[in-house]
Amino acid sequence: MVTTGRCRFCGRDESPGQHRAPGPKGPICADCAETGLAVVRDGEARSSAGGTTLLRLSPDAEAACDHCGRWERLTFLGFRRPLVRMRCEELESVICAACLDTAGDVINKASRGQGS
Ligand SMILES: [Zn+2]
Ligand SMILES: [Zn+2]
Repeated sequence: MVTTGRCRFCGRDESPGQHRAPGPKGPICADCAETGLAVVRDGEARSSAGGTTLLRLSPDAEAACDHCGRWERLTFLGFRRPLVRMRCEELESVICAACLDTAGDVINKASRGQGS
């Protein structure tokens, strides 16, 4: 089954002119990156453009980010801090706030580069 064309978070197929950021397990689309940033910011669950449910993981969940493979980071004092992560219920995909930021940047640059 080829799933690389589908967004990991809303399950929609790639459409012409829509920018996406690639990931090790599949891309994330601009809509999901934007919605995801809002989800990790305020913790409110939201529906994606593809009808899936995007929600913020509780800090003690040990689900690794699909993009960077981490679910916690070490602070300079050696404490372990869980990463803020978003999860898609239906597709069981996870992305951390830092990777959402990166994905947003990639998509922004791609859309500027292609402008008119
Ligand atoms: Zn998407
Ligand atoms: Zn990550």
